[in-house]
Amino acid sequence: MPTLLSPLLVLNDVRRDIDRKYQRVVEYVDVSVIPFDPRILGFIREGSNTIFVNAIPLERAMDKYEHLYVVLTHELIHMSGVADEREVRKMTMDLIEEKFSPNSYAYTLAQSLLDPVSKFLRDSWKKGRPNTFI
Ligand SMILES: [Zn+2]
Repeated sequence: MPTLLSPLLVLNDVRRDIDRKYQRVVEYVDVSVIPFDPRILGFIREGSNTIFVNAIPLERAMDKYEHLYVVLTHELIHMSGVADEREVRKMTMDLIEEKFSPNSYAYTLAQSLLDPVSKFLRDSWKKGRPNTFI
């Protein structure tokens, strides 16, 4: 087992999965893992192709691959042109749900980032009594 996990290997998995599910491709992407305010998991800058991943929560994560997968999925969906935060979090959850089990670290993390309204609507569909909002 390798002790170091390359963020670029995780990025390749994320890129492939986003392309498959959403037909969205971002050509040139780099990842930089640096420490900053630990309340923020990652960010991108307008006009830059670098995803900054916060080293502090990554270091504390129970599963570093899954942590990177969730953060990189979120930021890559932004880079593919989706600005709306709630929509990005929902699209991230939809992808995570296909790939990871409900008791995985990735699933728990992605769900914790979900907007409460999105979570309510998702849960209502699972119970066979869908709620919809307009
Ligand atoms: Zn975001």
